[in-house]
Amino acid sequence: MNFRSGGLKMKQYLRYLPPVHELQKSDAYEQLLQKYNVSSDRLTNICQEELNGIREQLLQDEWQGKEPDLNQEYWTKNIFEKVERAVEQLSQYYLKTVINATGTVLHTNLGRARLGEKQIEHVVKVAANYSNLEYKIEEGKRGSRHDIVESLIQQVTGAEAAMVVNNNAAAVYLILRALAKDKEVIVSRGQLVEIGGSFRISSIMEESGARLVEVGTTNKTHLYDYEKAITEETAMILKVHTSNFKVIGFTESVESEELVELKKKHDNVIFYEDLGSGVLYDFKKHGIGEESVVKDVIKLGADLVSFSGDKLLGGPQAGIIAGKRELIQKLKKHQLARVLRVDKMTFAALEATLKAYILGEQAMKEIPTLHDILQTVEEIEARASKFQQQLLELDRHYKCCLEKDFSQVGGGTMPEEKLPTVVAAVTHSSVSSEELAVRLRLCTPSIVTRQKDEKVYLDFRTVTDDELSIIINAFQSLVED
Ligand SMILES: *Cc1c(COP(=O)(O)O)cnc(C)c1O
Repeated sequence: MNFRSGGLKMKQYLRYLPPVHELQKSDAYEQLLQKYNVSSDRLTNICQEELNGIREQLLQDEWQGKEPDLNQEYWTKNIFEKVERAVEQLSQYYLKTVINATGTVLHTNLGRARLGEKQIEHVVKVAANYSNLEYKIEEGKRGSRHDIVESLIQQVTGAEAAMVVNNNAAAVYLILRALAKDKEVIVSRGQLVEIGGSFRISSIMEESGARLVEVGTTNKTHLYDYEKAITEETAMILKVHTSNFKVIGFTESVESEELVELKKKHDNVIFYEDLGSGVLYDFKKHGIGEESVVKDVIKLGADLVSFSGDKLLGGPQAGIIAGKRELIQKLKKHQLARVLRVDKMTFAALEATLKAYILGEQAMKEIPTLHDILQTVEEIEARASKFQQQLLELDRHYKCCLEKDFSQVGGGTMPEEKLPTVVAAVTHSSVSSEELAVRLRLCTPSIVTRQKDEKVYLDFRTVTDDELSIIINAFQSLVED
């Protein structure tokens, strides 16, 4: 509420404002130092800023508070309230945890894959300590960070060699730059995709200095289109996974096998496949999607493949490149490899994720991404009805029904795939669904839901048991306010 002085000028209060050195001597100052671990310099600055702000308001004849008293204590108390709020802001992070109740497993805006417990544990240990990141412990000599996960990638993909860069976009760029600069790269028009976040194959190609040779049409590309385009200048045939869209109807694209056969007839032409997501687990055998596992693509004879670490693989952000040793060797030696190199925390997360794949089915299913995708409708329904029961006990103004629906895999992967799920549709008798969704988002942690037809939908595919009770508490706090 604004207090306006009416006839009295607010300026009269100026002389009651305490000077900074008085504030510094107060108990409140000392308490803030202790409570927030903030330095004395910083705290003094904040006191000064808040003091200036108040002085400014008084000079403008405006005070955003109740009617002031004619004494210094009043102002001291007011200043410290403002100072505490400012210090609290300082210790808050921009990055906050979010409960993803949308059911979209690889939600790009919510950070794609989340890591499992084992993976996190390994990251924390490696980040908090010195490690053998580039050191051979047995020999006491310098080592290479490329060695950390290379043999694991070899095992899970069957490739001769492998390396890791910052993300798959970086992998595409490095490969084009290092192996096709000033040369031609043949790509089907049906695969000149734009992935979210304005990653366009054609633009990356331009940046890399490789010349794009487009073949075929949007819906059809034949083997002879590629054949005709091969010249002395051809460095590479690039096949790009059309991740986030699907051309249906009268279509034709050339299988990897045929491209492998074609490139074998031409020395020095590399066949590289940008797999986008890159799956190490055969989702097909559960009737989910049509993605080939990376191992099969390598087996067909691709010279190089690349894929993301944080899409269907379920690991940290990374770009994994696997393929022929001679080519990987060239990539590792390129100057850009250093520019695009990966941090020890990423290596730790990736190592622990790949280990899970090597350990087998049980460990794999502990990777949250895999767990969430492979969950049965019954498991999701059990959680949804537990939520429904608890919500209805909470407050009679809430209504909640369970409905059959579908969740998406997300992250631009398997755009066609609909995973059967059970969602909870919630309404409140006096709060609109719009308002309910906003209030849930503003909770700590933030809860992100889906909205449709004046209802708030929660899909429990991507919600853990622990998160379920947090959500219930949040719904409770919303009605208490
Ligand atoms: C997602 C994707 C990329 C980009 O991968 P990031 O790891 O996000 O950099 C590149 N190519 C394809 C085909 C993709 O699906």
